[in-house]
Amino acid sequence: MEALSPADLQPILDEIAHAMASATDRGEPATYIPELGCINPDQFGIALCLPGGQVLQAGDAATPFSIQSISKVFTLAIALGRLGDSLWSRVGREPSGLAFNSIVSLEQNNGIPRNPFVNPGAIAVTDAILHGLQPRDVLAELLRFLRTAAEDNDIHIDKDVALSELAHAHRNIAMAEFMAAHGNLQNPSALTIGTYCHQCAVEMSCVQLARAGRFLAGFPDAARLVSPARVRRINALMLTCGHYDASGDFAYRVGLPGKSGVGGGILAIAPGRASIAVWSPGLNAQGNSKLGAEAMEHLAHATGWSVFG
Ligand code: GLN
Repeated sequence: MEALSPADLQPILDEIAHAMASATDRGEPATYIPELGCINPDQFGIALCLPGGQVLQAGDAATPFSIQSISKVFTLAIALGRLGDSLWSRVGREPSGLAFNSIVSLEQNNGIPRNPFVNPGAIAVTDAILHGLQPRDVLAELLRFLRTAAEDNDIHIDKDVALSELAHAHRNIAMAEFMAAHGNLQNPSALTIGTYCHQCAVEMSCVQLARAGRFLAGFPDAARLVSPARVRRINALMLTCGHYDASGDFAYRVGLPGKSGVGGGILAIAPGRASIAVWSPGLNAQGNSKLGAEAMEHLAHATGWSVFG
C-alpha cells in the first residue's frame, strides 16, 4: 500500500475528532483514583507522528493527561535494557484474560504475574529497576527516557494524582505483599508501590505521547533507545496484553499493538508508518478508553494500517 501523506491523514483525524466531540456515550472516568474522577469526560484528542518527522493532531491533543498504565511500556523498555532476559524469571509473557488489577492469577502462578502490563507484572518490573536505587532515581530515569524519546523536556509527574492513587493503593499493596510472600519482591512494598504510583502519574499530551512512541514504530530518525529486536518484542506484548481482558478485541478491531491507561490514553504503533496517541477520559467496562478505542478502530479502518497485512 502507498504511504499516506499528511494531506491525506489530516482530514481523517479531523473527522474522527469531530465525531468523538459529539458522541453521547463516552464511558466513565476512573474514580478509584479520586483525582482522575474529577476530569471532564467531554475531552478527546488524537495525535500521530510519521516517519518523516511530521506531527498531526486534532481535538484536545495538546492537553496533558495522566498516562497511568501506558507508563508500563516505558518501564518495561528500561527494565529489559538494564536486566535483559533475566527479567522473565519474575514476570510472564502471556495474556491474562483478567482485569488489570486482578489478584487471582498471582495465586495460581506462585506469585509470578502473567505479563508486564497487568498491575502485578508492572509492579514486579518497577521493583526490578528499583533494586539498589532510590525511588527518585528510578523516576528521574523514567522522565529522562520519556523526554529523550519525545524530544521534549516539558514532561512531569502530577504529584496530586500520585498521592491520590497512593492513598487508595490497598489492592496494589496487597499484590506486592503477595509477591513478597513468594520471594518475587526485592524492595519493601511501600517503596515499590510509591515508585509505581508516581510512574503512573506522569502527565503527557497526545502529541508528547505519540512522539515518545516513535522508537517503537522503528522510525529511522527516532532516538535509538531500544534495539530493533527488542522493539518487536515490546510490540508483541502490547498486541497480546496491552488492553488486559480486551486485548483480543483491540487486536481484532484495530490490528495494531497498543497500550491503554485508566487516564483514558492509548498509545498504538503502526510499525514503520505511525506512532499514534489518543485520549478520552471515559472508560469502558475493561478500563480502557471507550472513545479512544473507537477512534483507533476508525483510524485503522480509514488508513488500512494493520500488522496483519
Ligand atoms: N495506576 C493504575 C493502577 O495501578 C494503573 C492502572 C491502569 O492504567 N490500567 O491501578
